[in-house]
Amino acid sequence: MNVQPIDRLDLSDQRVFIRADFNVPLEDGRVTDDTRIRRTLPTIQHALKEGAHPLILASHLGRPEGSPRPAYALAPVSRRLSELLGQTVVQAEDCAGTTVEKQIAAMGRGEVLLLENLRFHPEEKKNDPDFARALARLADIYINDAFGTAHRAHASTYGMASLVSRRGMGFLMQEEIAQLERLRHDPAAPFLVILGGAKVAGKIGVIQHLLDRADVFLIGGAMAYTFMRARDEKTGRSKIESDEVDLAREIIEASVEKNVLLLLPTDHVVTANDDSQAAGCVVRQIPENMCGVDIGPRTITGYSAEIEKAATIFWNGPMGIFENEAFATGTRSVARAVAEASAFSVIGGGDSVAAVRQFDLSGGIGHISTGGGASLAFLESRTLPGLDALAA
Ligand code: ADP
Ligand code: MG
Repeated sequence: MNVQPIDRLDLSDQRVFIRADFNVPLEDGRVTDDTRIRRTLPTIQHALKEGAHPLILASHLGRPEGSPRPAYALAPVSRRLSELLGQTVVQAEDCAGTTVEKQIAAMGRGEVLLLENLRFHPEEKKNDPDFARALARLADIYINDAFGTAHRAHASTYGMASLVSRRGMGFLMQEEIAQLERLRHDPAAPFLVILGGAKVAGKIGVIQHLLDRADVFLIGGAMAYTFMRARDEKTGRSKIESDEVDLAREIIEASVEKNVLLLLPTDHVVTANDDSQAAGCVVRQIPENMCGVDIGPRTITGYSAEIEKAATIFWNGPMGIFENEAFATGTRSVARAVAEASAFSVIGGGDSVAAVRQFDLSGGIGHISTGGGASLAFLESRTLPGLDALAA
């Protein structure tokens, strides 16, 4: 694909529009994890150094459902970004329209404006052509660095791109694609995939795709119970996605056919109530009235041994309800094994990445993706709407 990286474009005295992914967690008007902002800094700093006039930043934040809700305003992001950049980031009151256009026209070289939350307008998610045109009017050069949103064809990630004559990708987008390409193109064997978390439905496509590439699958988290149900194993009151049981069965059958080792937990931490603060107990078989909340010690030992042997690892989704310390051992142990493994490892998925950070194990990971859904979509189809739209 022919997409220009930002450093091949002449930005000097141009209105440079960067679509970033500043969808960060907030608490009491403060950014509690600024990773996504920090990961965009190289692109922002490059644009400033190269004389953007001015630099215009845009992002969505949360799910304001198409109306301007103060709780989703981007002011906490512009404040944090000002601190990180050491220069004032002006917060706009809207993301398009004549007021914003005038504000941009009055700005100088090297100044930075952060547009207000794109999703305050319902047209953003609908990829509305008029809204895309209104955004495109603000820019001479369009840069997409929002990898975490690149699997969505929205006005700011898709529609506006072709309406701006010069366009390209930022350094974060470039880095994400390059690292994920390593998993797609001849990954060193054994290629191990660790899957967990809650949403089997959203991950089926990528599992089917990876069955053709990976050598071993380790399944954990709530996802494991849907697979166990497909194997007619006892799952008690564990969280199951009943609609996905047939697909899980097909995946198990395909794994046998394709000679892929697909492992399910052989013991479990269970509790009578999945949000109870009480410590769980370890069982081989899940009793009728209990639900699984973490993988057990025997599973941890088996999974860790596979992880140690792997040459390439992709991990998405925690092994248990790690938000509760009593049920975090499985996720922590797997995270430690991945961090200590000699394999090239990639982690994608909001919660899995949060877990690895919480355990302070990010240092041992090859690549930590800023996009959960986007990394899965890219692995599955090798392209993303937001990337396609940048093609020259
Ligand atoms: P990611 O964001 O890494 O892609 P998901 O969003 O799919 O992962 O899943 C993360 C969620 O799955 C976490 O909130 C975690 O508590 C939950 N989860 C993991 N294991 C279980 C389980 N056994 N039962 C219920 N929920 C679980
Ligand atoms: Mg998640």
